[in-house]
Amino acid sequence: MDWSVQLFELNYDHLESDAVGSVLDSRWLTLGDETKSFEGEFSRFLGGGVSSVAVSSCTAALHMSLVAAGIGPGDEVIIPALTFVADANVVRMVGASPILADVTSLDDWNVCSKTIAACITDRTKAVIVVHFAGYPIEDITNIKELCSENSLVLIEDVAHAPGASIDGKMCGTFGDFGCFSFFSNKNLSIGEGGMVVANTDANTRTLASLRSHGMTSLTLDRHRGRAMSYDVARAGLNYRIDEIRAALGRVQLAKLVNGNMARMSLTTRYRDNLSDTSIMIPFSSMNEASISAYHIMPVLLPKNVERTAVIRHLKEAGIQTSIHYPPFWSFTAFGESCSPAQAPRTEAIVSRELTLPLFPTMTERQVDLVCEKIKEVV
Ligand SMILES: *Cc1c(COP(=O)(O)O)cnc(C)c1O
Repeated sequence: MDWSVQLFELNYDHLESDAVGSVLDSRWLTLGDETKSFEGEFSRFLGGGVSSVAVSSCTAALHMSLVAAGIGPGDEVIIPALTFVADANVVRMVGASPILADVTSLDDWNVCSKTIAACITDRTKAVIVVHFAGYPIEDITNIKELCSENSLVLIEDVAHAPGASIDGKMCGTFGDFGCFSFFSNKNLSIGEGGMVVANTDANTRTLASLRSHGMTSLTLDRHRGRAMSYDVARAGLNYRIDEIRAALGRVQLAKLVNGNMARMSLTTRYRDNLSDTSIMIPFSSMNEASISAYHIMPVLLPKNVERTAVIRHLKEAGIQTSIHYPPFWSFTAFGESCSPAQAPRTEAIVSRELTLPLFPTMTERQVDLVCEKIKEVV
């Protein structure tokens, strides 16, 4: 399909091609200097205080965090009812049960501490939170307190929110683990990839070991003659990134802040443009100390409007839209264990949610076109 306004477009130029070319010329393709530099630059970007381990995806980062935290069969992990399925999948994959916590309100789509508190049982071991659409969870301090009072591990899924912060503290540095995604359509795009960050040396070492078969020495160390063999201290996985994507990540990291600022002004234009309609835009009020990463542009359609008709009308005008997200109870794999009764506010949102195009290189004229077309049907 030839879209006139795509949901997302890459913010790529010759810098990305040059970076990939240099890696190919170096003839070293995995766990080398690019990966090390990317990890160091990412930790610095987060303001220090955490160490970063680059991985193959955010899903890998989440899975490794649960394994490192010792979560397993019989345990419960509280996750947001409104999120991508990866958060529930990884909990299932370690043999634990995902428990859904509701959004705060029809305006604040982030999970709130009160709903999390109500989900805690003596089987609860961890909480996964998501800074939805890039908007920092304003309740994060209470959630942190709740977790430490109940000895729960706090895992931040920061897939939407690289660069977001509260009072100068970056999202991803509040929890025991912070998991970032660099999938193609995220704010920092490299195709497939992710980062997991931790704030203790013990956790960082465990993550680095889990990423690479639990091995104690790396191919590069052996190549450089620093190690001849290796031990396997614990069972591990292969969740490594490669040098090509680490190099892309460094270029994209350098573009992130400007990209997020472009997303902010486009979001403001959307809000102004749609303010005279019955369309609701969540996160209408943000604490002044908070900075969003403006990952996506979700809106809440009026109750009496049929969402499929809106999607069709926009599609005919060449405008691509999406839905964030179909609820867990609509999935075959989760239908039996999840129900709308667990999260009534999420249920009120999911059938009316529509995601409009948003990406740093989008033009103001494109925003105006999307708004004009959506006003024709709503
Ligand atoms: C994209 C996304 C993920 C998964 O990221 P991958 O890097 O594709 O594994 C997880 N959680 C949320 C909220 C996401 O948006």
